Amino acid sequence: MADFPTSARVVIIGGGAVGASSLYHLAKAGWTDCVLLEKNELTAGSTWHAAGNVPTFSSSWSIMNMQRYSAQLYRGLGEAVDYPMNYHVTGSVRLGHSKERLQEFKRVVGMGRYQGMDLDILSPDEIRSRYPFVETHDLTGALYDPNDGDIDPAQLTQALAKGARQMGARIERFCPATGVRREGDEWVVETPKGEIRCEIVVNAAGYYAREVAKMFGRDLPMMVMSHQYMLFDTIPELESWSKGVGHKLPLLRDVDSSYYLRQEKYGFNLGPYEGNCRAHWDKADDPMPEDFSFQLFPDDLERLEWHINDAMARVPLLAQANLTKVINGPIPYTPDGNPLIGPMPGVPNAFEACVFTFGICQAGGAGKVLAEWVTEGATEWDMWSCDPRRFTGFEDPDYCVQKGMEVYGHEYAIHFPHHVWPVGRGKKLSAVHDRTAAMGAQFGPYNGWERALWYAREGDDTSEDAQRTWDREGPWFGAVREECLAVRDACGILDLPGFSRFRVSGPGAVAWLSAQITGKVPSVGRLGLAYFADEKGRIVTEMSVARLGEEDLLLITAATAQMHDKEWLLSTLPEGLSLVDETEGWSTQILTGPKAREVLVAAGAEADLAKGWLTWQEGRIAGRSVFLMRVSFAGELGWELHSRVADTPAVFDAVMAAGRPLGLRPFGMFALNSLRVEKGYRAWKGDLSTDYTVLQGGLERFVDWGKPAFRGKAALEAERQRGVSKRFVTLTVAAGECDPPYMSTIWHDGQVVGETTSGYFGHRIGKVVALGMLRAELAVPGTAVEVEIFGERCAAVVCEDAPLWDAKNERLRA
Ligand SMILES: Cc1cc2nc3c(=O)[nH]c(=O)nc-3n(C[C@H](O)[C@H](O)[C@H](O)COP(=O)(O)OP(=O)(O)OC[C@H]3O[C@@H](n4cnc5c(N)ncnc54)[C@H](O)[C@@H]3O)c2cc1C
Repeated sequence: MADFPTSARVVIIGGGAVGASSLYHLAKAGWTDCVLLEKNELTAGSTWHAAGNVPTFSSSWSIMNMQRYSAQLYRGLGEAVDYPMNYHVTGSVRLGHSKERLQEFKRVVGMGRYQGMDLDILSPDEIRSRYPFVETHDLTGALYDPNDGDIDPAQLTQALAKGARQMGARIERFCPATGVRREGDEWVVETPKGEIRCEIVVNAAGYYAREVAKMFGRDLPMMVMSHQYMLFDTIPELESWSKGVGHKLPLLRDVDSSYYLRQEKYGFNLGPYEGNCRAHWDKADDPMPEDFSFQLFPDDLERLEWHINDAMARVPLLAQANLTKVINGPIPYTPDGNPLIGPMPGVPNAFEACVFTFGICQAGGAGKVLAEWVTEGATEWDMWSCDPRRFTGFEDPDYCVQKGMEVYGHEYAIHFPHHVWPVGRGKKLSAVHDRTAAMGAQFGPYNGWERALWYAREGDDTSEDAQRTWDREGPWFGAVREECLAVRDACGILDLPGFSRFRVSGPGAVAWLSAQITGKVPSVGRLGLAYFADEKGRIVTEMSVARLGEEDLLLITAATAQMHDKEWLLSTLPEGLSLVDETEGWSTQILTGPKAREVLVAAGAEADLAKGWLTWQEGRIAGRSVFLMRVSFAGELGWELHSRVADTPAVFDAVMAAGRPLGLRPFGMFALNSLRVEKGYRAWKGDLSTDYTVLQGGLERFVDWGKPAFRGKAALEAERQRGVSKRFVTLTVAAGECDPPYMSTIWHDGQVVGETTSGYFGHRIGKVVALGMLRAELAVPGTAVEVEIFGERCAAVVCEDAPLWDAKNERLRA
């Protein structure tokens, strides 16, 4: 093996569409000293049998970005690398059966327009002009996407591979990675042909990714589904129509019936996502085979029968055709259905680009994102939706299988803002879960922790069906209002298990933290909000910092940020400092409202309740030790009560018993959302993301320019000199029945000038509030704009740069 590469900068394991695209994009970024290992022939995995649909549609901004990029890349790729490809841009028609579905489409049209795509809504009559063979009597409309199409997945992979090779990257076929080991700062990748020393390894092994991850000591949150599509023979009527008009039919997706139907030559390809679905390789008697290259599962048409009949009724032409072939192949799923792209948690210089459910339409964008992670340590677009660190380790194999099946069976389902998916629940329960459940809590999971979303009253509809609406006023609305008003007028308590908490201590802890955050480290006894920026000044995360001692810090952050923030901290933590993840040992109650102090007095709290805002102290309630932190995300007088898990029930009971006569009532996350938008408080990965810099985010008051150095300082200084291009604003919106969802576009003078990042009804002020980003020159209080909500432009006004509720924070400081 004289020619076998013994060293490389990056080794990619897996030669499907995603591995090839990763190699191509690394080479394009100038990293040509890269080797891709494929255990069989390129495309031997899922890529080989994929249908090759390339939609751009997504209700997620980042996934849409990725898919839009892919479609653009594929249009020019064949020419760029001189490898002709079958890529048909046919457009697609996505049928809607309900008002809610049309609302979803209208939202996506708005997002698509903002990304430069010309999506359109079709009336039932217009549908037939695009697709003459479809029954429309029971439809409410459709979405037309002119960018949709289909590509030959093998040709795509080969084209990417050719392009990568042309730039100098290498591909070793029939060369499995059999092991990896760490030697000094290097990885050694073992193969039967020899070893390769490299700086960085990428796991792009598709449905084999879990096996490859084990080489790194990592248990990947994934499972494998079987997915089928059926090919139908030539239909003379379709052939003559197609030849007559000179093009194919657009791809048809009947999303409410859960299938797609694509013209394939002069026949059809029908691909359902059936509810009655089947996982594979998930049991002892169905183990994952050593090798499954270029293989399929046996056909299983019985479970698709309903969809076949439905499609034949929808497009009667289909009933004229003979079924000629069934493809039933493996397709990997994470518990939320999005892939893993980014740093491999807990493992240095290793990355993941695997577990793709839609890896053909996402391969292009995924390669770009992966290459940015590797070469720059950060991505252009915020890619939290695909970040491996969104999973934190509680996702055991059974959970992965159950969630994977749930996602697959609802692949085209609408994701409503108040809906909670029922599978995989109850993984982590608060110490007072039984008590809050008895009070009517309706739960939702946060990093696996069940938290109350709202408290149902006698007679409130708590069915899952009632959650399937875009409307503001679902069955929760009245209860949430009461919860908010209790917080405003008396006191509320929110049980908040699973706050992520890290204790950082040791000589130099404060100097280290100061170099990581934009602002000041609080003095001993005090608390503060800290913002972490990347080198470009973009918002990486936000944490509460409590200075427990001179060199002893407690960092508290969102439940979902546990793995992400821990890795971010560890990535720069010097030797000699210790970081302990104390998340599991503690629980938190938010006690807030004008009577919060009275409640604590009545509960016999042993603490100095006169201590001011942004202080912390160790006190006692019900004889148990409690950290009382004087902050409130709800924007009222209040404390966070942090207690050890074993002590939490006693503390909770004492506070509830003392508070009830004073009007104390429990509240949930929906109420908290309402309360925090009125204060303009940002939420992580909505309002606070790497899509925005600290200055764009309106967080300049958390920047200490006088500090000699902190991460991102140079970029932020340069931005300050230039002036920001867009700026965070709070808007009040004259919305109709629905609050503005994430990424609703903001209009001014007939132009899109920004986007919302949060939107919710503020019960204390009685108005719909949106947080968002607006062109800097328009971010002036009083400016009239419009927010597009499900296709309707609603009048909105830019508010003063102060909270809408309690502008001077007097209630907070009371
Ligand atoms: C029936 C069906 C239809 C589909 N239709 C579509 C569609 O229309 N549009 C769409 O976007 N997606 C579709 N998909 C999904 C799509 O096929 C996958 O998401 C995509 O192919 C994943 O690509 P990948 O590169 O991540 O993985 P794979 O193509 O599975 O590639 C992984 C590669 O890693 C190699 N490998 C594994 N272990 C090792 C090792 N130890 N060393 C070296 N190499 C290794 C494997 O041999 C394999 O070639 C479909 C899937 C199925 C099953």
